[in-house]
Amino acid sequence: MTANLREVLAAGGRTFSFEFFPPRSPAGERTLWQAIRRVEALAPTFVSVTYGAGGSSRERTIDVTRRLAQETTLRPVAHLTAVGHSVDELRNIIGHYAAAGVRDVLALRGDPPGDPRGEWVPHPQGLSYASQLVRLVRESGDFSVGVAAFPERHPRSPDQASDIRYFVAKCRAGADYAVTQMFFDVEDYLRLRDRLAAAGCDTPVVPEIMPATDIRQVRRFAQLSNARFPRSLAERLEAARDDPAEGHRIGVGHATEMAARLLAEGAPGLHYITLNRSTAAVEIHRAVCPSPVPG
Ligand code: FAD
Repeated sequence: MTANLREVLAAGGRTFSFEFFPPRSPAGERTLWQAIRRVEALAPTFVSVTYGAGGSSRERTIDVTRRLAQETTLRPVAHLTAVGHSVDELRNIIGHYAAAGVRDVLALRGDPPGDPRGEWVPHPQGLSYASQLVRLVRESGDFSVGVAAFPERHPRSPDQASDIRYFVAKCRAGADYAVTQMFFDVEDYLRLRDRLAAAGCDTPVVPEIMPATDIRQVRRFAQLSNARFPRSLAERLEAARDDPAEGHRIGVGHATEMAARLLAEGAPGLHYITLNRSTAAVEIHRAVCPSPVPG
């Protein structure tokens, strides 16, 4: 297994990572594991598994993360949210992760289930903000802890100043690194980095790379995440709406340019969204990082 995430980052090393979500069907499970095995051959720094809004999806997150720790050579980072959980339940889940050999958690507040833009209501015995979850995970054992960052600011933040202030508080609560929300303009990442430097925060912020290959899917994701989508890219993808091969070429090309520029600007790594299909992410990764990264 590669070095502890905190050590890789502290040594100034770059991380390369891939994000998956828990599968919803046996066919989805097969697709996921094909993608995982393909990514495994690249020896990424870590892979992460998103945490669902509730019920069986959460159990599948825990199951996939456990299998990654026990049946592969990969380092799994478990996403965990505060949604609908008491502190005791959160402790219990963190304990399950520890027992499975998982040592890295991405601590998130999460969104209200059903309507992600609805009113946030904490569990009566639960947590209100990710910073509290960061503390809870740190208190629970020797975990590295990551948090979310928002190049275009969090949609619920009333202004940039409070967005940065609370992000910095989350880092000071014990976060080792952050991974960004998807974005499609490198300038948004660079301006976030400037704001954090001005606030005296040097927590590494790893940019998330979303290969935008299908206009329908991108519109849905961008709406959910509030990410602005460049008009020229939207127009090119719209023209390729019924030509998946051309959409793939356009999306991979744009993401590869972004990834190369981010690395040239000193980004501490790249975190690829795979949507459980590795092809686009692997192509981008091979283009910007042709040889395996020592980790
Ligand atoms: P917080 O850091 O708690 O911030 C939420 C809002 O509260 C922000 O506006 C912040 O400025 C404000 N705030 C923070 N502290 C305070 C305070 N003390 N007082 C007042 N305001 C405060 N969601 C999932 O459900 N599952 C996932 O697996 C998942 N993975 C993600 C991975 C990444 C890389 C990213 C970027 C997001 C992910 N999300 C996931 C989405 C995330 O849960 C939502 O964006 C959520 O709305 C914010 O989570 P947070 O951890 O940033 O919350």
